[in-house]
Amino acid sequence: MQVLPPALEQLVEQLARLPGIGKKTATRLALNILRRPQAQAQELSRALAMLHQSIRLCANCFTFSETDPCAICGNSRRNSSVVCVVEQSADLLAIEKTASFQGVYHVLHGVLAPIDGIGPDELKIKELRQRVVAGGITEIIIATSSTVPGEATASYLLDLLQKEPVNLSRIACGIPMGMDIKYADKYTLARAIERRYSPA
Ligand SMILES: [Zn+2]
Repeated sequence: MQVLPPALEQLVEQLARLPGIGKKTATRLALNILRRPQAQAQELSRALAMLHQSIRLCANCFTFSETDPCAICGNSRRNSSVVCVVEQSADLLAIEKTASFQGVYHVLHGVLAPIDGIGPDELKIKELRQRVVAGGITEIIIATSSTVPGEATASYLLDLLQKEPVNLSRIACGIPMGMDIKYADKYTLARAIERRYSPA
């Protein structure tokens, strides 16, 4: 039995395709959009329509950008010899928010996931190698997540690039700031002990 009018049902279906949004949340969002002034729904639809027209990938680091090169690659104050490799543009934004990194990035657009058919060719790995081979890079920081696919991708990249004349490093992971160590899970704690550092 059709409960929602078809136009609403269609919107629910589209919203429910987004990650983290089930049918229930999609219905709540669709009803919320319907209750708002029509102009707001039009603004939303205009923004969606513009998305693919105005945003492209930076040809250097492959982040989403309205300009090519992106604002980071095009900024002469950034240190282009240090490249931080991230999974997604969202990770780049998270690191940018820390204001602690002055280098540039390389966005892989995913992680290796053989079960889902995502191998090295599906990611921007060949492009990373080309950037390294082209020269001018002294350090590569692998900042993929500390999940199983994130670690597998990091190992793959470290293997791939180990013969290149660049310093390779992996971002540290350990106990979150302000956390009592007895509440840390054993894997995090083991890693924190294994990769300890001496505060000089
Ligand atoms: Zn860029």
